[in-house]
Amino acid sequence: MSVFSHREFDNHQQVAFFNDKKTGLKAIIAVHNTNLGPALGGCRMWAYATDEEALTDVLRLSRGMTYKSALAKLKLGGGKAVIIGDPRTQKSDELLYAMGDFIEGLGGRYITAEDSGTSVADILKMGQRTSYISGVDSASDHGGDPSPSTAYGVFVSLREAVAHKLGRTDLKGLKVAIQGLGNVGYRLAEYLAKAGAELFVTDIVHANVDRAVKNLNATAVPGSSIFALNVDVFAPCALGSAINDQSIEELKAPIVAGAANNQLATPLHGQILHDRGILYTPDYVVNAGGIIDVYYQRKMRSADYSAENYAADLASKVEGIGATLREIFVRSEMENAPTFVIADRVAEERFNNGSNHWQPTRLNDSAATRSYSKSV
Ligand code: NAD
Repeated sequence: MSVFSHREFDNHQQVAFFNDKKTGLKAIIAVHNTNLGPALGGCRMWAYATDEEALTDVLRLSRGMTYKSALAKLKLGGGKAVIIGDPRTQKSDELLYAMGDFIEGLGGRYITAEDSGTSVADILKMGQRTSYISGVDSASDHGGDPSPSTAYGVFVSLREAVAHKLGRTDLKGLKVAIQGLGNVGYRLAEYLAKAGAELFVTDIVHANVDRAVKNLNATAVPGSSIFALNVDVFAPCALGSAINDQSIEELKAPIVAGAANNQLATPLHGQILHDRGILYTPDYVVNAGGIIDVYYQRKMRSADYSAENYAADLASKVEGIGATLREIFVRSEMENAPTFVIADRVAEERFNNGSNHWQPTRLNDSAATRSYSKSV
């Protein structure tokens, strides 16, 4: 297994492998880029079939975090961690403590958070060994869950896309089809219903659909017909690859704006949307509300940053997603390139020009020298 010549390597600054014989922990932390700040990204626990699969996943996800944070204008770089193992059978407190030690050993270059296979409780256990954790602060009014901020960011993005594509600023009577009414999708539906939009919804869990029909006056539609509806916006809020060979043929909406990660099955699907004049709001720009929330939650750990600061900064940064999208939409038209290509370019411009390189505290820094001299 080669790292430097791996197809997903993409100039990662650091890839660290960790093995702890006592607890059985096998983990990889990938730090893609720290030009804008320390690398923040979730810790996934998954029963990868091979080490190669785990490496591919962590490299791909970590790179994605650099782009997402740069586009969200956060002082953060991109990183990710994976623990190789079945979260249902191989997780133990000792293993999570060992993971905390591993993260601590990177000295703050990487900050972790929950992801598939890990919970807030797991991250708090790691936090007994390292302070480099985030997304666990119950001081936020939603107990650390970033979904409400993600949903608000999707709403802001959808509004921006509607203004750009349809030239309208109010959403009254706007027809929106939502696929997936989970933590994010349902909250998005609430924002839209409040703004007067007409909702068409689907979910594989019937109770989620019933709730939207009852509370938000939404119309339930079968999963198979959600793409072909004559609506203004299609909002994918379920799983990845919603825009694929089959759905792209059926799609009638002039706008795609939703929360799901990796909405385009392949880059070609993004090109086809562009060629057909369908405005695609790149997923990692749209769903950045979550990482923004996690970033400001972490700031609340310092004494001079209050819950009021958190609420104000969070709202303004999530609303700032709209301005980033405007820039992407305009450049996409000027350069005749798909929005997802432009989004990557904007992110690269931001992190390649980042002067705020993250640096560890050095022993010759005055404070560190003082505490070192005291202890010797
Ligand atoms: P969730 O699991 O709470 O909700 C997903 C919903 O989609 C569920 O209700 C599920 O039943 C439904 N679903 C699954 N397959 C479906 C299908 N084929 N058709 C219709 N419905 C289907 O997840 P979430 O937290 O709401 O996240 C939604 C998406 O947004 C995911 O792709 C996630 O990766 C992405 N995302 C979420 C956040 C966040 O803060 N929660 C942040 C960034 C990105």
